[in-house]
Amino acid sequence: MISIIKSVAEWKELRNSESLKNKTIGFVPTMGALHEGHLSLIEKSKNENEITVVSIFVNPTQFNDPKDLEKYPRTYEDDLQKLNRTKTDYLFYPSHNELYADKFRYEINEKEFSQILCGAHRPGHFTGVLTIVMKLLNIVKADKAYFGEKDYQQYLLIKGMVDTFFMDTKIVPCPIVREKDGLAMSSRNMLLSKQERILAPKFFEILSKEKNNEEIIAKLAYSGFKVDYVDEVENRRYAAVYLGNVRLIDNVKI
Ligand code: AMP
Repeated sequence: MISIIKSVAEWKELRNSESLKNKTIGFVPTMGALHEGHLSLIEKSKNENEITVVSIFVNPTQFNDPKDLEKYPRTYEDDLQKLNRTKTDYLFYPSHNELYADKFRYEINEKEFSQILCGAHRPGHFTGVLTIVMKLLNIVKADKAYFGEKDYQQYLLIKGMVDTFFMDTKIVPCPIVREKDGLAMSSRNMLLSKQERILAPKFFEILSKEKNNEEIIAKLAYSGFKVDYVDEVENRRYAAVYLGNVRLIDNVKI
């Protein structure tokens, strides 16, 4: 059975105890509503470390839209079952007060790459992400932490933060896990209506097939997506679209 840790003090004590002090630790931060994408990160951590810690925390500071935060899926019981099936050692499941005793007076800002792509469309999003990841990495003190390439901009920003602040945890990127029809797995996919779910795979299909941004934007719009952005940065094409109220992101190497 997985051990559930809710307080920072409890984890710190355990981390310094004889049972964990000399073990290699892999860490997978998540916002829950776990799916095969998350499980692939856990699998990689289990293969590369003696102990695997998963965190579940729906981080309010990274949601620029309060409605998005409110409807974000929360499936705690189901998540626990999945974590037990994967034989994850520890779940770190802190309360808001535990992580934001400062009431978000302190934050981590990046001034350039966080301002484009998703950053341009979700003001403050990456500040929230970097702040919470900094806190979690400092608490867990893992040897390695695993992040999905599904959120490639996020991965690059976190890697940059860890390098910049000489943090000790190695950031490990993990490939995007997709449904059979190509749709990148995401906790938000469960919010799609039946009709939207049928249309959703066209997002990746168009993004990976077409050669230029204008063409992709036109085809996505024609297919029924509301395009947030499609943009190329350093040999990678990033895109975000809406299907109804649900925001989907994806990226492909070019
Ligand atoms: P989230 O719970 O959405 O914050 O995601 C937690 C971690 O899982 C992040 O590092 C994501 O990039 C990663 N992740 C989410 N979906 C996928 C996916 N389809 N494939 C690979 N990694 C993913």
